[in-house]
Amino acid sequence: MAKHVGFDAYGVSSAGELTESINPFNRWISSGMNGEMGYMERNADKRLDPTILVPNAKSVVSVLLNYFPGNPIISTKPPKISRYALSVDYHTVIKEMLWQLLDSLRKEFGTINGRAFVDSAPVLERAWAQKSGLGWIGKNSMLINPKIGSYTFLGELIVDADIEPSTNQVPNRCGSCTRCIDACPTGAIISPGNVDGRKCISYLTIEKKSPLTLDEQKSLSGWCFGCDICQEVCPWNSKIEIQTLPSISPKKIVLEINEEELSVISEEKFTKTFSDTPVSRSGYNRFIQNCYGSKA
Ligand code: SF4
Ligand code: SF4
Repeated sequence: MAKHVGFDAYGVSSAGELTESINPFNRWISSGMNGEMGYMERNADKRLDPTILVPNAKSVVSVLLNYFPGNPIISTKPPKISRYALSVDYHTVIKEMLWQLLDSLRKEFGTINGRAFVDSAPVLERAWAQKSGLGWIGKNSMLINPKIGSYTFLGELIVDADIEPSTNQVPNRCGSCTRCIDACPTGAIISPGNVDGRKCISYLTIEKKSPLTLDEQKSLSGWCFGCDICQEVCPWNSKIEIQTLPSISPKKIVLEINEEELSVISEEKFTKTFSDTPVSRSGYNRFIQNCYGSKA
């Protein structure tokens, strides 16, 4: 059903407290690894239990959509932009697909009420995807699907219908591999599945609102927005297909911008190039600071 809508995979869990996530999540917060992401501390109860977030919630339907755009220069040669941010903002696209999925569920199950989430509310998306049999949470903390890898957008429908939960749990297949831990330039993966957000380049280039310290600036390893290193080295991403869905494929104007143009990009050109992509979140000055230090 979800595949008809365009998703690559979906799975279902019964809504309820994510008991296995309570202690790791609370430890992560209490040790301050969320840095300036204060929103992670708020609504912890809703984050750990969707029945508090959505009254009468009975089931969580998790979906995956591959967004892998290949290895464009803008994501592989400094100054680099994370692959997920090369297309128009995915939130709207995935949400629209989730509403279509809800319509399909209504045709099968009758009256169903629910809410759609895409990285937009206190939902532990990866934990639900894992619980719904869509993959395992790797040592790099990403959700890894054995067929699709980890370059995926996640979304959820939390609904008031009892839908049979998925039983096909995917075992953790990281094994003895430590490629992501070894490759992380800042040592942000402090233990399997546990990333210290304060050291993570994705956090530093996107989430951290206060100015970067000199040491933080130096640690960015050529990334201006996000960081894909721990996914690039993951063997589960070595044979994945390139996504061709136009709505989440990289914008031509973003792919075409080269290093020289980026080094002298004006605010006007920045806006024209990135206005409807996730990169616009950082704003012109911060983006330039991420790329070139305090040149802006
Ligand atoms: S995104 Fe980059 S900095 Fe963050 S954990 Fe992965 S490799 Fe390390
Ligand atoms: S690089 Fe290796 S250890 Fe890291 S997530 Fe991938 S398989 Fe797991």
